[in-house]
Amino acid sequence: MAVEIVRSRTGLRDIVAGWRMQGLRVGVVPTMGALHDGHLSLVRAALADTDRVIVTLFVNPKQFNSAADLAAYPRTENEDAAKLEPLGAHVLYVPDGEQMYPPGFATTVSVEGVSEGLCGAHRPGHFDGVSTVVTKLLLQTAGDFAYFGEKDFQQLQLVRRLATDLDIPTQILGCPTIREEDGLALSSRNVQLSAAERAIAPALAQALFAAADRIANGAPVIEEIEKARTRIVAAGYAEVEYLELRGEDDLQPMTALDRNGRLLVAAKLGATRLIDNVPVAYPGD
Ligand code: AMP
Repeated sequence: MAVEIVRSRTGLRDIVAGWRMQGLRVGVVPTMGALHDGHLSLVRAALADTDRVIVTLFVNPKQFNSAADLAAYPRTENEDAAKLEPLGAHVLYVPDGEQMYPPGFATTVSVEGVSEGLCGAHRPGHFDGVSTVVTKLLLQTAGDFAYFGEKDFQQLQLVRRLATDLDIPTQILGCPTIREEDGLALSSRNVQLSAAERAIAPALAQALFAAADRIANGAPVIEEIEKARTRIVAAGYAEVEYLELRGEDDLQPMTALDRNGRLLVAAKLGATRLIDNVPVAYPGD
């Protein structure tokens, strides 16, 4: 069956109300489009767990802190719909700016703690934009489950926090990062890389995995982070914005591996900003 494209909040509400009457369980996959296998893995997880799946496509202006970045973001709605078709997703919800932020819109959802540091320190306003749009999408779709990628690990923890704090009944589920064969995490931004940059790009994941492995085997955290930074820049990245070990559950900074951790990085390759993260398993006492 063809994926149904829905552009209005009220149209979506009617469809979901009909499903609810039939006792069907609803899964939601929020995206900004330019779908790749990472997004599709979330859709597959949703299809496996639920009876009806809504994929949302909204390039949210509130979460971009640069007009140039927003303008350059890829927009491929027709291709996105074609990719969802064979999977059997039921609805592609594509609200426009007016649907999402009607005139007079004046509310911001802002999550403390987990939004601070890492991407929060380098992209002012970004997580307020994410929190606001995700809250609206969860309320508009009224899903039983919503699927988010570990690729955006800080975002995943932020969404868990806001759903708990705001009594949003949707259960938030995290899904593993899908990578290219050379280790590069799939991202809608990868199409912005030149051929030369694409050849350099996997150095980021490779440095992360190597450092995570050594830290898990007892190597000192600060030294391994320094080595990984040097390796990323030597490979041709222009700048490492941050590279930090944080607690897997609390996202608090860690200087020694005293519990399960997550090594998180953001770095610029030419004009493109890439992020990635990997788990660092605590071997136990
Ligand atoms: P985006 O369209 O970039 O906002 O991403 C939409 C959702 O897809 C978010 O929950 C992302 O974390 C997730 N996602 C993006 N890239 C990947 C990936 N490589 N593997 C798994 N999930 C991903």
